[in-house]
Amino acid sequence: MPPVFRFAPSPNGYLHLGHAYSALLNADLARQAGGRLLLRMEDIDATRCRPQFDVAIRTDLAWLGLAWEEPVRRQSEHLEVYRTALDRLDAMGLVYPAFESRAEIARMVAARDAAGRWPRDPDGAPLYPGSAKALSACARQRLSASGAPYALRLDMAAAIARAGVLDWAEQGSGPEGERGAVPADPAAWGDVILARKDTPTSYHLSVVLDDALQGVTHVVRGQDLFHATSVHRLLQRLLDLPAPAYRHHRLVRDAAGRKLSKSTSATALRGLRAAGMTPAGIRQRIGLP
Ligand code: GLU
Repeated sequence: MPPVFRFAPSPNGYLHLGHAYSALLNADLARQAGGRLLLRMEDIDATRCRPQFDVAIRTDLAWLGLAWEEPVRRQSEHLEVYRTALDRLDAMGLVYPAFESRAEIARMVAARDAAGRWPRDPDGAPLYPGSAKALSACARQRLSASGAPYALRLDMAAAIARAGVLDWAEQGSGPEGERGAVPADPAAWGDVILARKDTPTSYHLSVVLDDALQGVTHVVRGQDLFHATSVHRLLQRLLDLPAPAYRHHRLVRDAAGRKLSKSTSATALRGLRAAGMTPAGIRQRIGLP
């Protein structure tokens, strides 16, 4: 079976040089390995994803010289798949609703920070400080009946107890040079959100399901997602999904050394193309042979 690679952008903005690096690296590795390249649109965030970005992304990738298999998978077209997996985790007793608003959570974190710094996840966001896990079935029912919005969170302690010790095969490197069999540390993320009242999935849940359903054998993506792999391995084990190999790559930075963002136009591929840059020039600029 040929190896399967994928590039999985979110159509919530234009691609920049960092995306070009990731997409071209995936394409180069797929070609060298005689493998397949898939494109997946991670468009579950209906508030930020737009069809015009989906079109612009494919235009930019084709201009770079990429070819991918059709049809492109769009996560928004597969919500029932994620819902079913969420139900499975729920049936295992690993999911609970948390009704606190973002503002309430921010207040709870501020109060805890005042008493000594409250722990942060690997992305720097405070761990969930609430106690919704301990709500009685009756209280949950009452809140739910009131129509209040909620997030469905993974009971991390219970999930880890069930899944046991995990690691993953790192073929690239982590931010600290991690390589080889990397121990997963999902506890560092706390009770992550798996879905919300109006969105039956999350990045973590849909990425592991899609990688498995699409037969992805090699996940090649930026180092900014290195630590998220701990959560992905946990969900793979809980849902009996195969673990792909991972290759996290360096991030392309701007002249000031900052990570690129979709909102800075200076490094957007469409702008560079309009300014006369060639695909070969892009490769050179991001250090790809
Ligand atoms: N959709 C994610 C992003 O655009 C990438 C997901 C992944 O490669 O696992 O950052």
